[in-house]
Amino acid sequence: MKPNHEHKLNVTITRDAEPTLFPFTDYFKGFEKLDAVRKIFGGEAEKVLAELKVEFFSSRWGYMSTSDVDGHLIISSHHLKKGKFEVVYLDVIHELFHVKQFMDGRVLFDSRYHYVDSPIEIEAYKATVDEALRIGLPREEIKEYLKVDWIDEGELETLAKNVGL
Ligand SMILES: [Zn+2]
Repeated sequence: MKPNHEHKLNVTITRDAEPTLFPFTDYFKGFEKLDAVRKIFGGEAEKVLAELKVEFFSSRWGYMSTSDVDGHLIISSHHLKKGKFEVVYLDVIHELFHVKQFMDGRVLFDSRYHYVDSPIEIEAYKATVDEALRIGLPREEIKEYLKVDWIDEGELETLAKNVGL
């Protein structure tokens, strides 16, 4: 729609909407003590997680992501409630890796790369796969974990190969 439609239709849309944020540690406890998380943030793990904020959305679609505006987590409350424990756990590890990348000034969503070839995603998935192996998840289940809705079989093979699975 052209900008003048707002006038013509006699409606107003306030386009600045602040998300409601909650402390990460209200929902996720003990993560600062995990080796996987200390490996991501080093000695800063406790401080980073203490300051980290989470935004929840209630759509049934979607899982978790990291804001490329301020680095807070964005989580589907449906996924949080219904997702398999190991999946939600690994998603948190994956997203914490993106939080660190954001803190380092990296561009989280780089349109030059396809999802399965994005260095940002490959690094985050490598850390996630390491943790999945550490907690004893069978390789087949880890591959299942990599099979997200927005990639096809061929892309899954590429991703698995890229993360050394
Ligand atoms: Zn990711």
